[in-house]
Amino acid sequence: MLMSLSATTRLLTQLKKTTLDVIFPPGCVRCAEPIDTPDNLCARCWPEMTYISAPFCDICGFPFEYDAGDGFVCATCLRQLPVFARARAVLKYDDASRDMILGYKHSDQTNRAPTFASWMSRAGADLINDCDVICPVPLHHKRLIKRRFNQSALLAGEIAKLTDKPVIHDLITRKRPTISQGGLSAKARLRNVRGVFEVTQTREDPLNGAKVLLIDDVLTTGATVNACSMSLLKGGATKVDVLTFSRVVRASNTAI
Ligand SMILES: [Zn+2]
Ligand SMILES: [Zn+2]
Repeated sequence: MLMSLSATTRLLTQLKKTTLDVIFPPGCVRCAEPIDTPDNLCARCWPEMTYISAPFCDICGFPFEYDAGDGFVCATCLRQLPVFARARAVLKYDDASRDMILGYKHSDQTNRAPTFASWMSRAGADLINDCDVICPVPLHHKRLIKRRFNQSALLAGEIAKLTDKPVIHDLITRKRPTISQGGLSAKARLRNVRGVFEVTQTREDPLNGAKVLLIDDVLTTGATVNACSMSLLKGGATKVDVLTFSRVVRASNTAI
């Protein structure tokens, strides 16, 4: 029986996956409890998460409790438009999702990246379809050496693989290290990242006129993605959308 190269590759990939599933049965991406389907949450963890779905602010993706109609924008975006065009996220950042996200970010549980990326690809399908290039929020090289991986770059790479969109990992550079945004007030976060990002000089040409999708793991106040978006627009991008795995949802959307 003759088989095309791509069919053979698919068969080998499936065989490898089946063998691995037998040796290492798939586990819940949050608690590692064995489950039947890989890349998923178990029956106990799944209902604990708060998934962000419409209705939400047309711009920043802040979820609303009731549907106010298409194109409805939250009070924060009305007061001051963010630099990016749209932001979307998969999950609310809360007590249920925090350990899963911190485990990914700080404990080298990088094997979760493909699962998180597949969920992000669904939540951000419109943004992905609309973009020309994907790029991650960069880490400063000193922090990259310490952590050994950029959690946003892993997500960006996996999303690019799933969607066949080009990814440029070094599109934006962090000019200087910053202290962690965690624990800072919204104003301090803005100050902390002001003027920190710039488009990498060798990347200016491919960026010219492009619509960019910026990837990060968590959107908190939006200060970091706003600063990145500013640098991308200055560098020649025509539009920047933001896709994150999770986002903070405060009772009054005072951020961004
Ligand atoms: Zn679980
Ligand atoms: Zn908004």
